[in-house]
Amino acid sequence: MRVAILSSEAVPFAKTGGLADVSGALTKALHAAGADSFLITPLYDQVDRGLLSGTFIDDLEVEWRGKRPRIPVWISEALNAPTYLIDAPHYFARGKIYGDVDDFERFAFFCRAAIALLRRLGDAPEVVHCNDWPCGFATVEMRARRQQEEFFANTRTVFSIHNLAYQGLFKPADLWWLGFSEYTSDFMLKGTASALKAGIIAADALSTVSPRYAREIQTPEQGYGLDWLMRARSDRLAGIANGVDYEIWNPETDTDIAAHFSLDAVAGKRECKLDLLRRFGLPEELDRPIIAIISRLVGQKGYDLIRQAAGGILDAGAFFIALGAGAREYEDFLQSWHDAAPNRVGIYKGYAGEPLAHQIEAGADIFLMPSLFEPCGLNQMYSMRYGTVPVVRATGGLDDTVQSYDVATNKGNGFKFGPYSAPAMLDKIREAIYFYTQPDIWVKIQRNGMTTDNSWSVAANKYLELYDEIAGAGQNQVQSSR
Ligand code: ADP
Repeated sequence: MRVAILSSEAVPFAKTGGLADVSGALTKALHAAGADSFLITPLYDQVDRGLLSGTFIDDLEVEWRGKRPRIPVWISEALNAPTYLIDAPHYFARGKIYGDVDDFERFAFFCRAAIALLRRLGDAPEVVHCNDWPCGFATVEMRARRQQEEFFANTRTVFSIHNLAYQGLFKPADLWWLGFSEYTSDFMLKGTASALKAGIIAADALSTVSPRYAREIQTPEQGYGLDWLMRARSDRLAGIANGVDYEIWNPETDTDIAAHFSLDAVAGKRECKLDLLRRFGLPEELDRPIIAIISRLVGQKGYDLIRQAAGGILDAGAFFIALGAGAREYEDFLQSWHDAAPNRVGIYKGYAGEPLAHQIEAGADIFLMPSLFEPCGLNQMYSMRYGTVPVVRATGGLDDTVQSYDVATNKGNGFKFGPYSAPAMLDKIREAIYFYTQPDIWVKIQRNGMTTDNSWSVAANKYLELYDEIAGAGQNQVQSSR
């Protein structure tokens, strides 16, 4: 099975969130499962040039806005499968991955270039796996190309939704010069053009990143105006929970943390806790639980609840450590909380890169994810591996991957609350802290988490099944809107 994975971000090259972890890890896991997988992603200015092996070609011709620029493509062997990086500094040397008014244009170009590259890479892939709205353009273009070009006749597309809330909106008038005006109706969503919607319509199969989120996005509450489409295409929608790359997230081998630890030798975790307290300038009170959060600072992640419950969290006796970048209002809240309680609240505002995220996972006792919605969530799974107990809201992938601890049966790897409310969250935090003060029980909850298998091999096999379903299908067996 030859599979091209297209993504706007991928570890270890560039990352803003979970999409990057998933794109890198899935490419590796598919390869390990025997597929001929490879990744195509932009060459941003922040990509560590040490990861590149050299230029693969320097003359990729891309039809773009009436011209045919020739651009270089780099190759990297940083994963176990090849990664090709599209080098277009005009679009990708911006000091950031997203956030410019022409993002839709930048990623439409990326998609066009990626498809041009497929023709230079030998045999056509059986599956082009597109991720989130930046790759929606590729799904639409592949649908057209396979009707026009023999080369792509047997190529099918999977479109994965990592977060339905990001819809890649732009003015419909721009479709014309981007070369997509023929497909305007696929893009149109409430008077504007959406690269996400077009990607969903044009794909041969859809997936999203957890079974529960696959159900949630078919409801008006969580469908972001697209629930009708998700229901209409539900026979083609798979919910496949993300995994964890245990080569990267493993407390026994992690080179970023102060001391190694494992199920049978947990002493190192205490050293990691001490290291974490020092890093955040907090007093070395090792018996006080650390509650941590690492997330983009956006409404989705539940910061409104944390703001409402701030006093209660400290009253419960915990340290609070937050790493996050994003909305000003939440950064300001974190700053004022820290200023009011500098001995209890440690903060890092900004995108810290990988080492600090690993140090927090290793040193914290409790990991908080009070998300309003959460397609999959990765940190709760990283936490479990590091003996850090997740307290999460029962939504999306958080509900699928965390099982509530039940003292009667001694089963469960975390704590879950249902209503999106500060009191419900605080109750669960208090419950977790109660068990934290009973080391015999706490160690059992930690062990339940550390032995939970969230490895990628399970997910990779489910993706391979999905690819198999569409790859063999003849043109007319593949359900498509046109
Ligand atoms: P999302 O994809 O919605 O951002 P996930 O939980 O799926 O949420 O993945 C988030 C990933 O991004 C995790 O690997 C997390 O450690 C990382 N991350 C988020 N914010 C930061 C930050 N400010 N600094 C470092 N890593 C971060």
